[in-house]
Amino acid sequence: MTVLPLSSSWIDYIGPLTSDEIDSDKRWSYRDPNGNIHGLFSLAQLRLWKDYFPSDLQIWSYYGNVKEAILLHNALSRQTKDAGEIKCQHVGEKISWIAWDKVLASKKKGGLGVSSYFALNRALLLKWVWRFVSQDDSLWFRVIQAVHGDKIDSHSVRKVSIWSSILKEVQVLKSSGFDFLSYCSKRIGDGQSTSFWKETWIGDIPLCELCPRLFALDSAPNICVAAKMAGPLDTSFRRSVRGGVEQQEFSDLSSFLNSVVLSTSNDRWYFSLSSSGEFSVKDTRLAIDDLVLPSHSEPTRWVKLIPIKINVFMWRARRGCLPTRYNLVQKGVILESTSCPVCFSDEEDVHHLLFRCSLSQEVLHRVCRWWEIDFQLWRSFSEWDEWFSSIRLPGSVKGFLEGVFYVAWWFIWGFRNRSTFDVNKPSRSILFENIVSSSFLWCNSRCSRKFSRDDWLKNPHLISL
Ligand SMILES: [Zn+2]
Repeated sequence: MTVLPLSSSWIDYIGPLTSDEIDSDKRWSYRDPNGNIHGLFSLAQLRLWKDYFPSDLQIWSYYGNVKEAILLHNALSRQTKDAGEIKCQHVGEKISWIAWDKVLASKKKGGLGVSSYFALNRALLLKWVWRFVSQDDSLWFRVIQAVHGDKIDSHSVRKVSIWSSILKEVQVLKSSGFDFLSYCSKRIGDGQSTSFWKETWIGDIPLCELCPRLFALDSAPNICVAAKMAGPLDTSFRRSVRGGVEQQEFSDLSSFLNSVVLSTSNDRWYFSLSSSGEFSVKDTRLAIDDLVLPSHSEPTRWVKLIPIKINVFMWRARRGCLPTRYNLVQKGVILESTSCPVCFSDEEDVHHLLFRCSLSQEVLHRVCRWWEIDFQLWRSFSEWDEWFSSIRLPGSVKGFLEGVFYVAWWFIWGFRNRSTFDVNKPSRSILFENIVSSSFLWCNSRCSRKFSRDDWLKNPHLISL
């Protein structure tokens, strides 16, 4: 797992996962003298009651392990001083539900597309390498050229200098499969400033490597493309080409060069990772991320009509990484029961909660009735996905429908959290109402077409068309 600095934007980003994880700081449990576990509580609540607790009362974090319990006294005494630290620590712990690097991977690769600082830092360094390679004529280029020489391949990585440490990074990346220099190539224009033999301007390697015999024969090894192409290929050769390998190389090279047409524009360096051909930190960063970050077999499903927090919630749910009772026990948290806190009929795992629980069946049934589609008893995301891809609706309508399902699951999760943690039990009867209202607000504000809440309730199909 990559250790990353946590900036506030990261906390903002992953913050609104679920109402009880980050938004509120209710995350501490304790065991009373009779052995019963209580929680979750915020430190603020525990502070209020601290005079009633034994002095050695230990508490532990919702996200941590009960074996890592700490003294309440210590937690309270450092709360004001290190509040920030505690928060960060918890973001860190929370992320252990899903490894950081899975959050960072692109959506195409099943991540959340946050990208990593690792890749950003490398991309920023590589920008300097690009400036040297592409000979941008800056002071930087001229200084490095004067100190280290023309050819980047011959620059030492052992010297104690910024440039050497940058090049060392290039080597490390290359050994992990990211060969930066292979993405930098010359695009030929008039051929005046490109070495015919020594630069890569046609094909993937310099012609001196493709045709070593002919290169050895040429009396002008530094000749530019324009000069070489001006006359017959063997003009500057020391002698005429003989049979065998030389002859073979000669005929190969001649046909290879047949397609070359010089233009009047200047030769320029081309960066093949970005469509513009210009070096781009963003594209470099993405390419490094794609290489070093893990890849999930399925791309991340993302519905733009609903908030990021719900998409992130769904992403976690699909990966089985919600703090359900089953998962908590797997993580070593001691709970009185792993039963579903809503129906008590089965173990509470993600699929029970979102598909098999009486609550979710009731809610999803109503969603289907509202959308006039057949309800099915899905038991897992894979069954739901299969069903969803098979239903016949226009693509734009499906986008809304998928969003509505996600909103419904989000509310089911919220209901479950309130059933677990709130003193006042939440009401089932307003759940569907909330799903309709919130999905209306979210979809309406994120879609170009404006519609009324009434239209949304009466005929969601038509709105989305
Ligand atoms: Zn249940």
